Amino acid sequence: MAKNGDIMLKQISKSIKAVFDGLRTVFKHLFQKAVTEEYPEKRPNLNKNFRGGHILHNCRGCGYCIQVCPARAITIERKESDVKYFIDIGKCIFCGNCVYYCPAKSMEMTPKFEFANTEKEQLIVEIKNLKG
Ligand code: SF4
Ligand code: SF4
Repeated sequence: MAKNGDIMLKQISKSIKAVFDGLRTVFKHLFQKAVTEEYPEKRPNLNKNFRGGHILHNCRGCGYCIQVCPARAITIERKESDVKYFIDIGKCIFCGNCVYYCPAKSMEMTPKFEFANTEKEQLIVEIKNLKG
């Protein structure tokens, strides 16, 4: 019987300690500058090196970006003289390889990052439509 009482007392003291530990943490952070941001109410402060959505200009159509894309996210559609580039944002890992290795410096990455969509197909976009 006494043993059961000891166990219960230990559990109660553990619980009280846990509550005070929690309160201590809350008060410690209460007056500190918040590290989180109230997105989407407030726009996040993105790092200048942030890699978001792509844009394409003066493309030579060499297809090198397709080869260096580790996610196989870029596809090309050729119709006679018309060349269209598509990027699957659902596959892209935003590594920046396509920008880094483009011999014509045609590809850029912008701060655009809001691509959420419920339809997977909607994530496959023609690159020129991804203007930031
Ligand atoms: S974006 Fe650059 S690497 Fe890709 S096809 Fe155009 S010129 Fe070539
Ligand atoms: S950023 Fe990386 S993963 Fe995305 S399209 Fe370019 S090379 Fe592919």
